[in-house]
Amino acid sequence: MGRIGKLTTAHGEVTTPTLMPVIDPRDIVLTPREMRREFGAEIVITNAYLILRHYGEKATRQGVHRILRYDGPIMTDSGGYQILRYGTIDVGPEEIVLYQDAIAPDIATILDIPTGIGVDRGRAAETVEITLERAKQAIRLRSNPKVAWCGPVQGGTFYDLVAKCAREIGKLDYQLHAIGSPVELLEEYRYAEIVDLVMTAKQNLPPERPTHLFGAGHPMMLPLAVAMGCDLFDSAAYVLYAKDDRYITPDKTLKLNDLAYLPCECPICSEYTLDEIKGASREERVKLLAKHNLSVIFGELRRIRQAIVEGRLLEYVEMKCRAHPRLLNALRRLAVYRDFIERFDPVTKPSAFFYLGPESADRPEVVRYIRRFAERYEPPALPILAIVPAFEKERPKLEDPDRTHLVRLIPPFGVVPEELEDVYPLGQFQVPQELDERQKQTVVDSLSSYLRRFGHRYEKVLLFDDPARWGKSLVDACEVVREKLTVVTPTG
Ligand SMILES: [Zn+2]
Repeated sequence: MGRIGKLTTAHGEVTTPTLMPVIDPRDIVLTPREMRREFGAEIVITNAYLILRHYGEKATRQGVHRILRYDGPIMTDSGGYQILRYGTIDVGPEEIVLYQDAIAPDIATILDIPTGIGVDRGRAAETVEITLERAKQAIRLRSNPKVAWCGPVQGGTFYDLVAKCAREIGKLDYQLHAIGSPVELLEEYRYAEIVDLVMTAKQNLPPERPTHLFGAGHPMMLPLAVAMGCDLFDSAAYVLYAKDDRYITPDKTLKLNDLAYLPCECPICSEYTLDEIKGASREERVKLLAKHNLSVIFGELRRIRQAIVEGRLLEYVEMKCRAHPRLLNALRRLAVYRDFIERFDPVTKPSAFFYLGPESADRPEVVRYIRRFAERYEPPALPILAIVPAFEKERPKLEDPDRTHLVRLIPPFGVVPEELEDVYPLGQFQVPQELDERQKQTVVDSLSSYLRRFGHRYEKVLLFDDPARWGKSLVDACEVVREKLTVVTPTG
């Protein structure tokens, strides 16, 4: 579901997936121009509520672009995050819509009510109702055609409410959507619940509208979020962490004081030594760390985009999710949604399928093969079936080759008839020959199911068994054809 997109705004095009660095209008550590020039940031996000409190009428006269001294795309959030943190804000939903219309960011956000985590169902339902009501009201209020509007999805961990909110707001005139409330889940590393939240929203939102995942800008999480179809992210962490002497790496966050080396190649870490960074004045250090942090995040986004081009995003996600057991847990949760994900995955790819662990068996290539094989496959009318192990490229010597139908056992795909061997990905895969349990199980399941469906059509079944490879004899999987089965075991 990960995709590279072009988002056209009144101030230029943005390539997605991308990060919108958060600009706090009260305290600008790195300017938007600096971030564009040094890191390739294409769009920034700031908070309309804070602009209103800080600049008021001045911003309505000048517009948000002059206030931030930036001529590129700007998104504004509305203050929903402040509600989540502080319970309430002293601006009404109408006022904040009209104010954004006047200060004219490229993308504006209605004042939604974040559901948050740990609230009861009644409260969660209420936040969804109010958010939807305000979404409808905002359409009536807004009048600036240059501003695109973002409709947030709420519901928290009440996924039926998330689904309802996504369905309803997806019918309204919004150009993009944000998935709300993951901040507390992210802070607590509850990534599996983020998978449920995002996948529920994505299954119910119009797929062509860009999706913003609030607050999910850490590089350890980004590949998974992009793979679920999120296009826009925001990060205040690059600067908040910097102020707290925290150093972002692609897989985790470290305290500056815990570093013995600089494990990074960004311009800052190349130009400065660790001692120089530690010894810099606080103001200078915050700036250096903020720049390093942004470099790492934008570097991760480039790796993600490259993985999408290569057709390897989920492989990359499998690698990245090994950085933390909670991420691995989230990857496993993603398997629940594998049939939905499969619909968005290209049927062929420029790259070979790499099996990188048991989770690879839930990838779309495998899911699609197993489903289509069950639904569409008819074997040729040949009387003898030869079942051969996975990795023998040579055809085994057969007594009656012209009357023999040969199938191979290729984990994790299962039974692969010889005539399909050049179809993607069966002709282009790399799987470990030392099999894991999941690989073995896929083969056993597939073989017994194949023989239940088609075993009666064959007069004779030859099994080239290899108990050493499969960990057991495959004879049990051939139960339904036992009386016509001939087992050939490897010699030597
Ligand atoms: Zn660095």
